[in-house]
Amino acid sequence: MMRQFELVERVKRYHPEANEDLLNRAYVYAMKAHGSQKRASGDPYFSHPLEVAAILTDLHVDDQTIAAAILHDTIEDTGTTRTDIEERFGENIAHLVDGLTKLKKLDLVSKKAAQAENLRKLLLAVAADVRVLLVKLADRLHNMRTLHFVPPDKRARIAEETLEIYAPLAGRIGMQDMREELEDICFRVLMPDAHLMMTQRLQRLRERAGGLIELIENDLKAKLAANQIDGEIKGREKRVYSIWRKMERKSISFEQLSDIFGFRVVVTTMDDCYRALGIIHQAWPFVPGRFKDYISTPKQNDYRSVHTTVVGPKHQRVELQIRTREMDEVAEFGIAAHAAYKDGKINGEGTESNAYRWLRRTIELLAEGDNPEEFLEHTKLELFQDQVFCFTPKGLLIALPRNATPIDFAYAVHTDIGNNAVGCRINGRNSPLMSELQNGDEVEILTTEGQVPPSAWESLVVTGKARAAIRRATREAVRKQFSGLGRKIVERAFARANKAFSEEKLIAALPRLARATLEDVLTAVGRGEMYSGDVVKAVFPDFKEEIGKGAAPGAGAGWFGVSGADKLKFKVPGQENAGSSIPIRGLSDDLPVNFAPEGGAVPGDRIVGILTPGEGITIYPIQSPALTAYDEEPWRWLDVRWDVDEHDPRRFAAQLIVSVINEPGSLAEIARVIADTDANIDNIAMRAKTADFREMLLDIEVWDLKHLTAIMSELRAKPMVASVERVVG
Ligand code: MN
Repeated sequence: MMRQFELVERVKRYHPEANEDLLNRAYVYAMKAHGSQKRASGDPYFSHPLEVAAILTDLHVDDQTIAAAILHDTIEDTGTTRTDIEERFGENIAHLVDGLTKLKKLDLVSKKAAQAENLRKLLLAVAADVRVLLVKLADRLHNMRTLHFVPPDKRARIAEETLEIYAPLAGRIGMQDMREELEDICFRVLMPDAHLMMTQRLQRLRERAGGLIELIENDLKAKLAANQIDGEIKGREKRVYSIWRKMERKSISFEQLSDIFGFRVVVTTMDDCYRALGIIHQAWPFVPGRFKDYISTPKQNDYRSVHTTVVGPKHQRVELQIRTREMDEVAEFGIAAHAAYKDGKINGEGTESNAYRWLRRTIELLAEGDNPEEFLEHTKLELFQDQVFCFTPKGLLIALPRNATPIDFAYAVHTDIGNNAVGCRINGRNSPLMSELQNGDEVEILTTEGQVPPSAWESLVVTGKARAAIRRATREAVRKQFSGLGRKIVERAFARANKAFSEEKLIAALPRLARATLEDVLTAVGRGEMYSGDVVKAVFPDFKEEIGKGAAPGAGAGWFGVSGADKLKFKVPGQENAGSSIPIRGLSDDLPVNFAPEGGAVPGDRIVGILTPGEGITIYPIQSPALTAYDEEPWRWLDVRWDVDEHDPRRFAAQLIVSVINEPGSLAEIARVIADTDANIDNIAMRAKTADFREMLLDIEVWDLKHLTAIMSELRAKPMVASVERVVG
């Protein structure tokens, strides 16, 4: 186990002004906190955070990150709290350790392979601070190095996750060595036979090559020296997993691989890179199509190098990477090292140094993908700040825009789940559907079959998918209302004509109505776009409508009609023939019914419905003066009758004009009568009629006509009341 002074020395080697006291205190604190805890290997637990810190010293991270690495498992695995860390080590380190604790919780969520890309994003979003990510990667690397101590049944899952998420992430931020090491361990765990085979073949090839590597190395050295280029030659052998992947990807055999052996030529200046390249190309024939200049055009992760492949001694193909020391450091340690290098020194104070900020931006861009168009597109977005990542109870990851609600989540999972959503549980707790989702939330949507999403949801959602689905579902519900109404109107029209209604006959008559489906016809009638009499005529072409003269509206029981030769007469709703009229139940849920806004009908009133195309029926008392407006449009008149639900009584609006003698207390008296008779007052308007009288316009809510009549009688019985009249709009 690394000792305290060794750790400090390692950091001071690249970061001379590192806060020694901080490192010492973190070391002692974590050692005590983990106490006698043991790892699966039997080692003291504290050896793990120390190894993680050691890996990070290779990446030249700052002293705060090293301290956070030493403390990274204390909150999750010991009695330590965030407050403890904050009190002892300050807000910055507490923030880093807290981020690592959150990431650790994500490890417990089951994950699916296809979602690796989203999980990488989630990781970055939760990490937020790039230093958290660096510690997390180092943590994973050490855990992978010691994976053989973990029970076999757990190894595969951890290896899969590492291969899908952490290894590509390391690669994308330029930490190639870490990526390759992670991949090789995963390869060994997941495909032990293939790993063994590759290792053995590589070994045989190495033996066959014999002194070749040394030969090439010495040759290169001599040629550089002859041209006064100060350079270092490193023999380099590809890792088994990357060879395996290349074989798989390109469907080529082991023997066909040209670049198993490679050399790295590290020189001082960029100019030297190109000079060395010229010398190499002069000495050996180069393989066409293998030359790549990543110095003039760096890779997205800022990797720079010149690559070429030549046919060397004994006709062995040799891959060469030529670069400067600075470029080499980036290639080995990734952007973290490069960032430090660029800044010249590491900023130990504050939150993120410029270097880390720069790195974080780069990661955000890189993580999005290798596609250059995507890359460009996303440079315009604050990628991860705009998204939130949540899980279904089964571990499926759902990516949503920030401010998304469980309703968005429900629609993202499935349209039916969205439409039928009635509630939700977030992280196991019942929560409102309009909650704002947070990263890592596990969301369970509670559903009930046959729901219609409230149209108000449209304003609660942020995803286009949810908005479109809600609009579609509410439109469909309205269409169903109209088709339900249309069916009633059509059935009634057939009954009035003494004809039997059948769907089959109507379907046979569809061409005559120029409609494609039965539903279309019913909806058109319900919307008032098609007259029900025409539907009867389409089915029974010789049917003649009875045109009546009728009495004026309000003429009492029996028939009333509107005058005019081509106008129809309608039955006034009456008990004796309830079967052919449309039952109206309050503000019905399944019919598009409205009541006249003022002076409307109350149950017990004789009523008539006026169909307004596209809106539905409006109910008026038959004595309503407003009805004269529809005299010329007989097709809009509908027979309707009350259908009051005794188990769910509703109140209806009515208007009264009360004339009272102008004396103190009269208003209070009127109000008391209304209250005593179990009515509600919505509004009272007063005006002076004469000096002696006042007129009150009362908007009240009553159960039915009987109730209204009783109220009017009570009012009339009061001495100061001169008259009471009902207003019918
Ligand atoms: Mn750990």
